[in-house]
Amino acid sequence: MPSPAASRAAARVAGTGQTIFAEMSALAVRTGSVNLGQGFPDTDGPPALLDAAAHALHHGANQYAPGIGIPALRQAIARHQERRYGIVLDPDTQVAVTTGCTEAIAGALLGLVDPGDEVVVLEPYYDSYTAMIDYAGGVRRPVTLRAPDFRLDPDELAAAVTDRTKLILLNTPHNPTGRVLDETELAAVARVAREHDLLVVTDEVYEHLTFDGRRHVPLATLPGMAERTLTLSSAGKSWSVTGWKIGWAAGPADLVAAVVGAKQWLTFTSGSPLQPAVAAALDAGDDFPAALAGDLQAQRDQLVAGLRAAGLTTYVPEGTYFATTDVRALGWASGGDFCRALPERAGVVAIPSEVFYDDPDAPGAGRHLVRWAFCKRPDVIAEAVRRLAAADLTAPGTR
Ligand SMILES: *Cc1c(COP(=O)(O)O)cnc(C)c1O
Repeated sequence: MPSPAASRAAARVAGTGQTIFAEMSALAVRTGSVNLGQGFPDTDGPPALLDAAAHALHHGANQYAPGIGIPALRQAIARHQERRYGIVLDPDTQVAVTTGCTEAIAGALLGLVDPGDEVVVLEPYYDSYTAMIDYAGGVRRPVTLRAPDFRLDPDELAAAVTDRTKLILLNTPHNPTGRVLDETELAAVARVAREHDLLVVTDEVYEHLTFDGRRHVPLATLPGMAERTLTLSSAGKSWSVTGWKIGWAAGPADLVAAVVGAKQWLTFTSGSPLQPAVAAALDAGDDFPAALAGDLQAQRDQLVAGLRAAGLTTYVPEGTYFATTDVRALGWASGGDFCRALPERAGVVAIPSEVFYDDPDAPGAGRHLVRWAFCKRPDVIAEAVRRLAAADLTAPGTR
């Protein structure tokens, strides 16, 4: 971007820069690379979902939906939460439809965080968290998940809380590490939240996409947590429609109202013909996401084997779309340098995890980590693995 335009931008935008995903996807197109950077599938969602959206589009669902979302979708979200997790919600006051989970995150942070409030957030973090904490004038207090097992340390979590802490921003299954927080870790979060009377916002967009028989447990189901937990999710990941941007926020009525209070000035409403289609998909049960999770697990195994064969130390994810590698075994100190060289060397694009840390050089942080997406067809992963095997991936001067 030319600097005169950048100099006219507000500080909050100029300071954020372009997302790494836009930069790396553009690099993939320019170099003809296999794009294992941005996390979007290369197959469509279920035909019945697509048909329902087309039907709604042709039958009048083309004007503003209510800001909080159409009743049918709010009711379907409530039924999904009850059927799957035993969470009971009033669809009229405890559920709001958002423009993807991204707007639910924005609405939650703008709606709940005042300037100076502290937000405890898992690091590495999804990059919209930091932008929205900044926009709200909040202060982030990261708690780092460290390789090789990326476990949440309860003492570090407790130590990150101060008397200015307003909320904990959780994400499980966790992007980018692929961790699915277990009962012990969730209990630690619940204990800290109860002890310090904190709110918790939990991003559960990968709730259906867990592997090896692991099950996602929503934090809101733990004792004393329903009244202080705002749960965010989306149809994008579970139903392979990331471009649809139909998400939601669910929890106590006052927290949902805070999200709606902010979101009415963002998009107000969106996706009118998509909302009834997502409602029907939620009510059709979990067969599609369950099958998707099975496919993703096989694709994970295929990519992990290929990355290891290419000489990369690779951590096996328990859920999500992503695997993480450590590039030091090939002589690289920086995942950013590795990722910038990778398209030329191998014709593959991946994301340097360093952008997901406050200080990627802190002990146990991720300067040397790289994130790879496996939400791609097996033939695409096979091509990426073939290219990686054929390339010299060692750092300059290593060989
Ligand atoms: C993809 C993703 C989102 C965004 O979801 P949308 O519904 O596409 O807005 C939010 N959080 C995490 C952790 C994600 O990976």
